Amino acid sequence: MTSKHPETIALHAGWRADPTTGSVQPPIHQTTSFQFKNTGHASALFALEELGPIYTRIGNPTNDVLEQRLAALEGGAAALVLASGQAASAFAVQNLARVGDNIVSSTDLYGGTWNLFANTLKDQGIEVRFVDPADPQAFVRASDDRTRAWYAETLPNPKLEVFPIAEVAALGRPLGIPLIVDNTAAPILARPLVHGAAVVVYSTTKYLGGHGSAIGGAIIDGGTFDWSAHPDRQPALNTPDPSYHGAVWVEAVKPIGPVAYIIKARTTLLRDLGSSQSPFNAFLTLQGIETLPLRIARHSENAAKVADYLASRPEVARVIYPGHQSGRARERADTYLKGGYGGLVGFELEAGRDAGRRFIDALELHYHVANIGDARSLAIHPASTTHSQLTPEDQIKTGVTEGYVRLSVGLEHIDDILADIDRGLAAAGAASVAAE
Ligand code: PLP
Repeated sequence: MTSKHPETIALHAGWRADPTTGSVQPPIHQTTSFQFKNTGHASALFALEELGPIYTRIGNPTNDVLEQRLAALEGGAAALVLASGQAASAFAVQNLARVGDNIVSSTDLYGGTWNLFANTLKDQGIEVRFVDPADPQAFVRASDDRTRAWYAETLPNPKLEVFPIAEVAALGRPLGIPLIVDNTAAPILARPLVHGAAVVVYSTTKYLGGHGSAIGGAIIDGGTFDWSAHPDRQPALNTPDPSYHGAVWVEAVKPIGPVAYIIKARTTLLRDLGSSQSPFNAFLTLQGIETLPLRIARHSENAAKVADYLASRPEVARVIYPGHQSGRARERADTYLKGGYGGLVGFELEAGRDAGRRFIDALELHYHVANIGDARSLAIHPASTTHSQLTPEDQIKTGVTEGYVRLSVGLEHIDDILADIDRGLAAAGAASVAAE
């Protein structure tokens, strides 16, 4: 099956039917290990002369279908699914950077990624230098000889200002620095690889699954970044790897294709750290992806109506939504998001933090959860939850103010979503009037 259309890819890529049973859905290969045909077969698999499942920590046929589907959807060469989006962000960096190395990252990040970068990777000897993504040149200025990658999110919440993917990717390529883009909030709408990103990261927990049933993550290797063009810049892929009998990954993987980055991640990091995705979760995520193109269009449609409605209400001081932006932010939104502005809407209530809490407590339809991208509408107050482990200064850098409320607009009927928001605004406004 070959198609360039996401609607078709989402249903067909990576699987047709089980050769033995004819099963239309990929089976859940709920097994730890895979029997070798003979000793020759076993050693060929371990030597990467032949690709195939060995042990589910490193690979599984159900996961393989998901990996093929994600690579096809994203226009990449190959993918690796992992236990969570956090594991995907960590592996994406650790695959290139070692002790003493650094990466440069946009400040506009999911709170968990911020913590991973600012604390855990730092403890492991990898420095993350944060820069303002509004200025692409800031990535160049913050880089030095030990910079191994640049990192950003396409549609970072809470700011919801789209990252200048092509501008930053084009600055990095001549220096041998790949751009890694977390596209969690904008699948289908944004195509980071088409705009020059080298690697895409997902929390599949969000829109890709859509049902809120399975935590998962993925890394997609675009296959277009020349890792060997600047060997000094990428020693992890260009020097003998003692953990895999001296393999030089860019050479060792040549017969398989332009997938040195992703093969190394699987055969070293996944082997050693073991953050594997369960095949059951891969199956659930595949179920979600089947309807992703339809869902993301409806999420975007509903979110646009929610943003317009909030903007019309006097209790709301500010609406944060790509479709309401102007100037350069809007230009970037229109350049990189096609077919909608996504399902996330932020807003600030006139009456600040307490009004934000009252708003959330009054909601009946929206779930109050630390998640985005579910089919159901979700709401949260980031300053007291997802971003609460950041310092107040770092909260401001990532765009989290005290009164900010984030909505992940779901697929319910728009009238019901707006009625619930009305309920929240009435609660927020009523108390503020009483306080005056
Ligand atoms: N990246 C983004 C943009 C996210 O929103 C999240 C989770 O909220 C993650 C990564 C981490 O993903 P997970 O929760 O699947 O580990």
